[in-house]
Amino acid sequence: MPGLKEQILERFELVLGFEIHIELSTPKKMFCECSASWFNKPPNTQTCPVCLGMPGALPVPNKQALNYTIKIAKALNCKINHFQQFDRKHYFYPDLPKGYQITQFYHPVGVKGHVEIPTQNGYKTIRIHRIHLEEDTGKLVHQKDKTLIDFNRSGVPLVEIVTEPDFSDPYEAKTFLKLLRALVRLLGVSDADMEKGSMRLEPNISLRPKGSKKLPPYKVEVKNINSFNFVVKAIEYEIIRQGKLLLQGKTPAQETRGFDISTGKTLPQRRKEVAQDYRYLPEPDIPPIEFTEKELAKITVDKEQNPFIMYKELQSKKIDSDAIWFLIENQTAYKIFQRFVEATQKGDLAIIKKLKEEDLLPDERKFAIFLMNTFYKKSYKSLEDALNEYYNRYRKDTIDQETIEKIVKEVIKENPQAVADYKNGKENALQFLVGQFMRKLKRKIDVKPVIEQFRKELS
Ligand SMILES: [Zn+2]
Repeated sequence: MPGLKEQILERFELVLGFEIHIELSTPKKMFCECSASWFNKPPNTQTCPVCLGMPGALPVPNKQALNYTIKIAKALNCKINHFQQFDRKHYFYPDLPKGYQITQFYHPVGVKGHVEIPTQNGYKTIRIHRIHLEEDTGKLVHQKDKTLIDFNRSGVPLVEIVTEPDFSDPYEAKTFLKLLRALVRLLGVSDADMEKGSMRLEPNISLRPKGSKKLPPYKVEVKNINSFNFVVKAIEYEIIRQGKLLLQGKTPAQETRGFDISTGKTLPQRRKEVAQDYRYLPEPDIPPIEFTEKELAKITVDKEQNPFIMYKELQSKKIDSDAIWFLIENQTAYKIFQRFVEATQKGDLAIIKKLKEEDLLPDERKFAIFLMNTFYKKSYKSLEDALNEYYNRYRKDTIDQETIEKIVKEVIKENPQAVADYKNGKENALQFLVGQFMRKLKRKIDVKPVIEQFRKELS
């Protein structure tokens, strides 16, 4: 007897796309002079009439944020619009004092992009629908009987990347998202720190009859997920939930849902608005911006800043997938490796001798010394073999319970606000605490025992 998931996937296939929000790390906010570095600052200390949405305050666009967005768009092979304009998107919510968000609806920075991602059977093209620039909203802080608003985040430059529904399983999506995070970090345009909310993921999930080319008549959007593993879990959960309804001959509702990390379930939030509800109109306070061909040509992306290209090149050198990720996610290690490649090609040892004098982190030093020994002793067939060996030897993905308990205690002590939020029933706070745990640990492990430990400590 096949399981429920198998029964569902025998008749239906996943239709999956993403909306990804990334905060840009420009010093200033999108339309004013306030600092954009809002995280952990005392509430409402980085605001002005513009980002507080006072009547009569005039927004002035941040040129650097536009350049950063164009860089991302170029790396994703988008067609860049010479003519760009901002629009007002109207909706009422307490974190948006103006009653509208300034975004780009009619003339986004880029459209029609594409990238290739590695899959189990070769490479697959993912199309990018559009990429545009907007402002972030304020942050609501829920307490037991009241809600407070912090406007420090209001007006921080925010890029939205929308993909086409080209993913056919959650692991393809995870690969894409990891490459995208590495991209914005290598470009130096965002820290893409998911625990701080500077990279937020929203999968659009639906199912259609197997082999059908039509888009399903509904779409479920899961809001603001802040970890790749939770994205995978949310998608797996939705496949089962929607599949059950479809097997009964019902159509799942078009809606927005939230993901509860403690149960691994999604829960309905609100019915999704259709586009015209937002009454988009061109922002009258900001003149349109016209880029010349020359100006756009000046904004460039190096091959070595683009993990979508790096992955392919490293794989063509027969480097294992795990070792490729190590290089892509660790810029210094990648640079060290490149220097060994260069030294080998040129037969010039001076290139690597200099490494000894450089200021490296312990992990990076270990890596450099390993390659150096390999290099002098010729103990491996090639640098690529040495890299694979290094990765296999030092890879660790297990953790003992004692370490979990110790770090959980530290995180609880250092984050009283999140602990209070959690105790007041705010499930998101747990997601934050788990994120802080991972930051301290600095490597990836299964999140389940960590969640359990937090629940135990906080019950
Ligand atoms: Zn401001």
